[in-house]
Amino acid sequence: MNESEIIENFYKVRQQIKNAELKSGRKEGSVKLCAVSKFHPVEDVKAAIKAGQFLFGENRVQEAHAKFTELNNKDAELHIIGQLQSNKVKKALEVASCIQSVDREPLLQEIEKQAAKLEKNIRVFFELHTAEDSKSGYADEDTLLVSCENFAKGLYPHITPAGLMTMAPFSKDEKLIRQSFQKLRNLKELLNSKFPELPVAELSMGMSGDYIIAIEEGSTMVRVGTALFGERNYNI
Ligand SMILES: *Cc1c(COP(=O)(O)O)cnc(C)c1O
Repeated sequence: MNESEIIENFYKVRQQIKNAELKSGRKEGSVKLCAVSKFHPVEDVKAAIKAGQFLFGENRVQEAHAKFTELNNKDAELHIIGQLQSNKVKKALEVASCIQSVDREPLLQEIEKQAAKLEKNIRVFFELHTAEDSKSGYADEDTLLVSCENFAKGLYPHITPAGLMTMAPFSKDEKLIRQSFQKLRNLKELLNSKFPELPVAELSMGMSGDYIIAIEEGSTMVRVGTALFGERNYNI
């Protein structure tokens, strides 16, 4: 996809987001767009920046590190959205401001250790597994609640628990997709009442195929790749 096509896609997707916000009685501008640039070259990220986009999502640390180091743009913000191995945490923290795919206690321990070394504070979202066809995320709410308890105890002073993330099933059945988003929204309400001291505010849900539904279900951040940058070439 060339630069002008990408820029045009940004205008289209932003318009769709705005329509969905209005249709569902949400405030205009209440939904953030995270542009998922995985498997796309740094030129595409530059095209997005020309369209006024500064928040990006990547799921592989190696690729994200290379791309965003090369980009070297202080205004660009990067979120890691893919499953993260503990041995990649250090590298992830060098380029990302947020890890959206936190799914286990040992990962939080490693993030805390590395963030303390770098003397920086990192934001995280807890990812909840809500769809059969995805493997990522905390397997159930109880294990996720244990992590929240550890935050409430003050175990992770260099980490800010800022939200929740999930991936809905890749299904044509809209009901299943909605159930997945509703599950995440309900969990956020539970966390906010159980742990009022934790700043869990974001609901990161919705991708190219289902972001309009996600906005109707209360998403505050959609993660869109294909609808902006085109199909990914997995052979690179
Ligand atoms: C790849 C990816 C996306 C974007 O998917 P599209 O369908 O291309 O919009 C969103 N979230 C996560 C976690 C992803 O891995």
